[in-house]
Amino acid sequence: MGNPFGFMEYERQDAPAASVYERIKNFNEFHTPLTLQEQKKQGERCMHCGVPFCQSGMALSGMISGCPLNNLIPEWNNLVSLGAWKQAYERLSLTNPFPEFTSRVCPALCEKACTCGANGESVTTRANEYSIIETAYRDGYAGAQPPKVRTGKKVAVIGSGPSGLAAAQMLNRRGHSVTVYERSDRPGGLLMYGIPNMKLEKQIIERKLNIMSEEGVTFVTNTNVGKDISAEELKNSYDSIILACGASNPRDIKVNGREAEGVYFAVDFLKSTTKALLDNGLKEGTFISAKDKNVIVIGGGDTGNDCVGTCVRHGAKSVTQLEMMPKLPDERTESNPWPEWPRVCKTDYGQEEAAAVYGSDPRVYQTTVKEFLKDENGRLKGAVFVKLERGKDGRMTPVEGSENEVQAELVLIAAGFLGSESYVSQAFGVELNARTNVATEQSSHRTNVENIYTAGDMHIGQSLVVRAIREGIDCAREVDRDLMGYTNL
Ligand SMILES: Cc1cc2nc3c(=O)[nH]c(=O)nc-3n(C[C@H](O)[C@H](O)[C@H](O)COP(=O)(O)OP(=O)(O)OC[C@H]3O[C@@H](n4cnc5c(N)ncnc54)[C@H](O)[C@@H]3O)c2cc1C
Ligand code: SF4
Repeated sequence: MGNPFGFMEYERQDAPAASVYERIKNFNEFHTPLTLQEQKKQGERCMHCGVPFCQSGMALSGMISGCPLNNLIPEWNNLVSLGAWKQAYERLSLTNPFPEFTSRVCPALCEKACTCGANGESVTTRANEYSIIETAYRDGYAGAQPPKVRTGKKVAVIGSGPSGLAAAQMLNRRGHSVTVYERSDRPGGLLMYGIPNMKLEKQIIERKLNIMSEEGVTFVTNTNVGKDISAEELKNSYDSIILACGASNPRDIKVNGREAEGVYFAVDFLKSTTKALLDNGLKEGTFISAKDKNVIVIGGGDTGNDCVGTCVRHGAKSVTQLEMMPKLPDERTESNPWPEWPRVCKTDYGQEEAAAVYGSDPRVYQTTVKEFLKDENGRLKGAVFVKLERGKDGRMTPVEGSENEVQAELVLIAAGFLGSESYVSQAFGVELNARTNVATEQSSHRTNVENIYTAGDMHIGQSLVVRAIREGIDCAREVDRDLMGYTNL
């Protein structure tokens, strides 16, 4: 065991971020990792708790606390502190198939439940994870692990987001022949075409996809299942099918003027930027541009923040981000104690950048759009805002007479998602639940149709990468058990 007093001897040290004015010049990741020597010290800060909440991944007050993958965090924190990078990688990859993704985009539910964080600064668990996986790539032991024997069973995975990829990797390594179908031109789901490049550079996804291909997974892109290829054809060709199509049906803002040219859904906007970045380095004007525009982002969540950061990089004239709910407190309240997920106001990278560039925090709380205004050519020229207050029924309600008109040439709707797109579930004849997610028994991934399973956001609703990965792993175990009569996954 490394130094047991590290938590008293060392302060938390985070990977430094490039200054706002430097990082907004491009779409690159902007943190410089600590040296391995520095990261070892951060590993020493782990207290090796008897009851490590960080790896529990349990629901507390309706929110997940701790790592949903049950990563063996104190174990590999200790191995990090000893500089035993290869053993740390072996322990980490036991539970996490994609640390290169989670160590970049996970909101680190582990750190919110870390005992060090109860009275001070939590351990830098996500950064420790990053150093383990990137050292593994650097030193050449994160490569392909193809199965030694093939079972002769065939599995189709529809959708190549983190849940589909996790299921595909597990089942392929088990020896089943796995084909992943993806309607986009590049696999990766929202990792590729949702989360912006500055949070997750796309060559990181390609690096992993190449390994999966080397291991034997087949990727079929530009193929929209249910449209380009029928459900019947797939049912006849595969022993099992996993539907992992995400929850991409966006919540709309149904007000007058919605049809104005210049009103887009957030994911369409973000995808167009990433695709143009990868296709032509943003040189050919093939994306929805915010340059020199007054932008309104509707939705105060993480997707909205990604839109803000992207607009800043495009060179928007101004950015306003609307949030319906009141501002959260800056610190945990008594009713939200550790180790619950902290319901506090966080300022993310995009908001920090907008504040620096435009002089104030872009967020406006308790406000929504009542109407979009368009010019004689049908182009967006502004919006009418209205203030909201909590009504007697607990719902946010417009305040009469509080309307004000603002100028805007671009609106991005980041108001959440309403479940999966219905044509896929209809094509396979699978039942949905009341929340328009694919219905299964509790703790199962089997749908009502034999040999058809579901995983990820399509099953649990729009969530997090780490939860989608967990879904894919659990689904793979169930598929394997049904195919083989037992599972060793
Ligand atoms: C803008 C944005 C930013 C986010 N940022 C973060 C973040 O920083 N951290 C985090 O943890 N989570 C983040 N999330 C949430 C996270 O990305 C999702 O929860 C996660 O990607 C869900 O994984 P999935 O595999 O279930 O589905 P998805 O990632 O949505 O992938 C589903 C895939 O299925 C494909 N597909 C759908 N229908 C078909 C069909 N009929 N035929 C073939 N292919 C099909 C889609 O094209 C897509 O590629 C973000 C979400 C958004 C929208
Ligand atoms: S996957 Fe997320 S919650 Fe789990 S250890 Fe990594 S950063 Fe923490």
